[in-house]
Amino acid sequence: MRLKSIELSGFKSFARKTELQFSSAITSIVGPNGSGKSNIAESFRFVLGEQSMKSMRGKRGEDMIWNGSNSTPRGSRASVKLVFDNADRALNLDFDEVAIERVVYRDGANEYLLNGSQVRLRDINELLAQANIGSSGHHIISQGEADRVLSATARERREMIEDALGLTAYLYKREEAERKLVKTAENSAQVEGLRRELAPHLKFLQSQVRKIEESQKLRDDLALKYVEYLKRESVYLHVTHGLLTAAYDAPEREHTELNHKITELRMALERKGSDAGASELVRLEEAGRRAAHRRDMLGRELGRIEGELVAEERILKVVERAVPEAQAREFANRVEAELEESMQLSEAEIKQRMAALIILVKDFLRRITHVEQVREGRSKEELLERKQQLEQELHTTGEDERRIAGAVAHLRISIESEKDASREAERDLFAAMARRSELETKINSIRSKVEMLERETAAFRSEVGEAGAILGRAVQSYEDHVVRSASGELVTDAEMVDEPRSQQEDRRKKIERLKIRLEEAGLGNTAEILREHEETVERDRFLARELLDLETSAQSLRELIDELTKTLSARFAEGITKINTQFDAFFKLMFGGGDAALSLVTEGKVRPYAAKLADDDRPNVARGDDVSDDAELDADEKEEGIEITISLPHKRIKGLHMLSGGERALTSIALIFAMSQVNPPPFLILDETDAALDEANSRRYGDMISTLGKRSQLLLITHNRETMSRAGILYGITMGSDGVSKLLSVKFEEALAVAK
Ligand code: ATP
Repeated sequence: MRLKSIELSGFKSFARKTELQFSSAITSIVGPNGSGKSNIAESFRFVLGEQSMKSMRGKRGEDMIWNGSNSTPRGSRASVKLVFDNADRALNLDFDEVAIERVVYRDGANEYLLNGSQVRLRDINELLAQANIGSSGHHIISQGEADRVLSATARERREMIEDALGLTAYLYKREEAERKLVKTAENSAQVEGLRRELAPHLKFLQSQVRKIEESQKLRDDLALKYVEYLKRESVYLHVTHGLLTAAYDAPEREHTELNHKITELRMALERKGSDAGASELVRLEEAGRRAAHRRDMLGRELGRIEGELVAEERILKVVERAVPEAQAREFANRVEAELEESMQLSEAEIKQRMAALIILVKDFLRRITHVEQVREGRSKEELLERKQQLEQELHTTGEDERRIAGAVAHLRISIESEKDASREAERDLFAAMARRSELETKINSIRSKVEMLERETAAFRSEVGEAGAILGRAVQSYEDHVVRSASGELVTDAEMVDEPRSQQEDRRKKIERLKIRLEEAGLGNTAEILREHEETVERDRFLARELLDLETSAQSLRELIDELTKTLSARFAEGITKINTQFDAFFKLMFGGGDAALSLVTEGKVRPYAAKLADDDRPNVARGDDVSDDAELDADEKEEGIEITISLPHKRIKGLHMLSGGERALTSIALIFAMSQVNPPPFLILDETDAALDEANSRRYGDMISTLGKRSQLLLITHNRETMSRAGILYGITMGSDGVSKLLSVKFEEALAVAK
């Protein structure tokens, strides 16, 4: 990386755009007092981001802007642009040329540009730190500030040295890591706060979820119990229904048959037992009695007629016999015989005999009648006729009587036999009725069982409905449920039906109890609670993860800080050792002897960096006494920082404050050069650092410049001839009556003239 040019526009006395090219390793700027040379050194500070206006001899940003003169009006802005050749990519930007520009406006506003694009100051600082151009400005030694490194506090000195050693980049990194660590801690606290805020809600939701889980367990348990219960119940109802139907069929059929039979038997009995026989018997007996009565009447009349006839006979005997007695007797005997015989004869025979008898009787009567007629005319005839008629009637009546008696006897027999038949039918009827009532009892018992089963079926249906409403699909497929005993064996349908109903009742009671518990555990919208719980858990997990991530990154930041601190202190220690060597050497060179060393001051105690070296290697390093004195003299030394201890040849010096102006200048030059030698900055600006040197020291200074010029670009503002002589390029600065600084390239001889 090489400094190519610097361009000042409206910056302090450089009212017009002025560009300085740095084509040589050493550039000297010469000019009369007040011409604006130091303004150039300050323009470097300015463009590199210097925030202290004081260090640029101003109070405000506005002081950096051309303030106008009689002939040239003041400017509204000041800008300085520094251009680097970045072909070696020392600056981590993929450009061959890197231009850094700073602009300040009258209102104090600043702008930083990197290759024309606006950036933050921080970006500029970080970029430059990579190339060992720190913001402490150790590589810009302003006029009169040569001994700044001596007058600085131990802490400031430490910063200058860190900067010079190129540790700024590490410091930036560490600061950034520390910033991030703070931010991480803040974030952690914030996340922890959020988690704490979330905790009670989460706890509440967790307890809700536990309840839900418990009630889910209850539900599962209930579902399990329900399916078994329902399965058992459905099997029981189904099988029992089948059994009852089967048990009902046969008795019902038999009952129907019995009903028929009973009806038939009843009808038959009614037919028989409808007293037709008895009334017929009565009627017959009545008819018999009537016939007997009539026979009696007829008999009596016949008797009377016969009596009359006997009386008539006597008359006839008197009248003489129209009919001989023997004839009459014969006739009578014959009739009598006939009658007697007829008793054993059939009806037809009787009729026949009767007809013959009648003829006989008629003949006899005719003869008698003849007698009668003989005797008294018609009377006897009439009697006979009447007698005959009576006898006929008597006969008929007797016939009737006999017939009736026969019928009665017959009917009696028939009634008796019918009575026997009825008794049998009655027995059957009673047996049927007994059986029927037996069946009815049975049927009734079955019916009541069926009714009970119907009630149980209805209850079962509503149970299924309720179970479905509570548990949904979990119980709907209870039919497919396989019931197992406690020992895991399959329970058959028969076993289910056979078990005492009380067991199902027990199951139902358990189910009821579970339902009550489930109802008591009622939690409203469980889906909503579960969702919210899940979300909250997820959020908490997220926060926990974030916290862990933050802790992890805090840890890695702490590690990084530790690492950087270690690196820094190692590099610092290493750097100090190297600087010490160079410092001592330059010091000896400048003073022709003596010793100089840097020491690290920690908690008010000085710890010489050279301590690790053997005493004989560094025989003249500040003694403990001196150091203690210094520590007492300067409060700043209480801080962790760098202290300088020196010892001049042939002099007993007890501190830097005892040095003369020239000695201070020499000491600081020795230190600045030592620092630059150990870690050469890309460029070094020395503004009249050589002002206090005598001729001999000017030469030594010139030699040192030549050495440094091999490693860093040097910009030397000087009035010193020796210094000028070491420069490859000489710029002269002049200022006319317009107060505007002007730049001109000059030759060595011209420079000598210009410098005056
Ligand atoms: P010396 O050799 O005496 O140290 P020098 O060449 O370093 O002098 P500077 O100190 O750089 O001179 O220049 C100072 C000059 O710059 C003064 O004349 C001062 O008036 C002028 N100057 C400073 N700030 C401004 C400004 N904002 N506007 C105009 N001129 C300014």
